[in-house]
Amino acid sequence: MNVTAKTESTQPEQQAGHVDVMIVGAGISGIDAAYHLQKHFPEKTLTVLETQESFGGTWLTHKYPGIRSDSDLFTFGYKWKPWMSAPIATAEEIMLYLEEAIAENDLAQYIHYGHRVTNAAWSSEDSRWEVRAVRLEDNQPLVYTCTFLWMCQGYYRHAEGYTPEWPGLENYQGIVVHPQTWPEDLDYSDKEVLVIGSGATAATLVPAMAGQCAHITMLQRSPTYFAPGLNRNELADTLRELEVPDEWTHEIVRRKILHDQQEITRRSFEEPESLKAELIAGAREHLGDKFDIETHFTPNYRPWQQRLAFIPDGDLFRGIAAGQASVVTDQIDTFTAAGVLLKSGRELKADIIVTATGFNLCVMGDIDFKVDGKPVNFANQVGYRGFMFSDIPNMAWVFGYFRASWTLRADLIAEYLCRVFSHMSDKQATVVTPRLRPEDEGMDLRPWVDPDNFNPGYLTRSLHLMPKQGDREPWTFTQDYWREKDEFPAADLEDGALVYSR
Ligand SMILES: Cc1cc2nc3c(=O)[nH]c(=O)nc-3n(C[C@H](O)[C@H](O)[C@H](O)COP(=O)(O)OP(=O)(O)OC[C@H]3O[C@@H](n4cnc5c(N)ncnc54)[C@H](O)[C@@H]3O)c2cc1C
Repeated sequence: MNVTAKTESTQPEQQAGHVDVMIVGAGISGIDAAYHLQKHFPEKTLTVLETQESFGGTWLTHKYPGIRSDSDLFTFGYKWKPWMSAPIATAEEIMLYLEEAIAENDLAQYIHYGHRVTNAAWSSEDSRWEVRAVRLEDNQPLVYTCTFLWMCQGYYRHAEGYTPEWPGLENYQGIVVHPQTWPEDLDYSDKEVLVIGSGATAATLVPAMAGQCAHITMLQRSPTYFAPGLNRNELADTLRELEVPDEWTHEIVRRKILHDQQEITRRSFEEPESLKAELIAGAREHLGDKFDIETHFTPNYRPWQQRLAFIPDGDLFRGIAAGQASVVTDQIDTFTAAGVLLKSGRELKADIIVTATGFNLCVMGDIDFKVDGKPVNFANQVGYRGFMFSDIPNMAWVFGYFRASWTLRADLIAEYLCRVFSHMSDKQATVVTPRLRPEDEGMDLRPWVDPDNFNPGYLTRSLHLMPKQGDREPWTFTQDYWREKDEFPAADLEDGALVYSR
């Protein structure tokens, strides 16, 4: 684990200089932001501050067995860098791709690792942010200033995952592990392993550990949809065989995948029952007629209300069919010395319990924000197109898609912001602030993400901390790539809601 806990420093602050744009975070979004900025505005000065000692964010933090993407890399990869391998990629492959992206675009010069941003204070008088950070190697507090703050710190706390407060947990004598803080030296050969949860992480861990431990059991409160499929893309294979240039192959395959996903999204709203039947038939095909699909793989929500986990080559189902893994659908009553006692009265014994129970959502990287001396509570701000915020000058947050690949939105936001920067330069403005227009005052405010549309636990648990969205453009956040891909490039930068000043 390479995320250091928050530290206070008593050393005197050091001035660290001014840049035009500061990017917080060197994960997939931060690298994307840096790429776009230096490509379109090579004259702008730029610094990327990153807490961890390397790039990659999510793909650096998570070290659990089998860690891989759950969306395809043609769309989870950047628009501007072709993906050349199988659609679903391991964390290692994603890290190599990001390493190449940094090297090919000479981005390393901008990134300062081991720097945790703690405070950001906007001064209208100076038209700039004062950003406080700690250099972790010597606990040195640093003070930067920047004109624009591009927040790419993700959406969850990297230092620790979410573990519910289960009764009796303290009685359990075995080892408890959260996938987000996986001990790399954990020996699970010959061990009975119990994984609590059935989201994408469990769907990765279970097949990766099945056959490598005595037995692995996935305990779920309620079933999840899984989409089994081959981890190859026939269209990409054909185009490569025809020696079509990699850039074209990447773009064509992206379009095809996005087209197919749009169709799945449409069906999830318009014909959920037939889509549900298809997904369940996929499980049946792997698990056979005798398996109790009704109990274990028939969710009670509409497909896509939570992220649909793709399982390459049906590996989760194959582990279960082979008897190396099993699934139990029940609720935890209490932990015991040997494992967990379920509400049904059954006890599941385990040497190791993996809590694949998700993460802690975190707004703005736990950074204290102030505007002109007043603390900002983002739950009181309204999102401007889901990436800038009412009354917060010169600041954007990259928040991607849940249903489509995150990076699609990182790219769209980057292109949008570059358009805003050009517009500001034409107007000789240095500050852009989203402000509610007279006609927006008193509009209906809604949760950041519509819980009826998309409702995984980590989001519903923390929705009250997130910014709001409004009931009209440009204050809505649809989480709909297929709308935003057309709306963002065409959006009017003089919509009255973006207010420019010097
Ligand atoms: C296990 C897992 C698998 C996933 N798989 C997929 C997938 O297949 N497809 C998909 O679309 N999405 C997936 N996601 C969602 C995923 O998090 C995003 O897609 C994407 O990786 C997020 O990138 P990011 O750069 O925005 O944020 P992150 O990856 O979270 O990176 C943020 C970076 O900011 C740094 N940071 C945070 N706060 C501070 C601070 N105060 N100061 C300095 N630095 C800071 C962090 O250290 C981190 O390196 C997955 C998430 C998880 C947890």
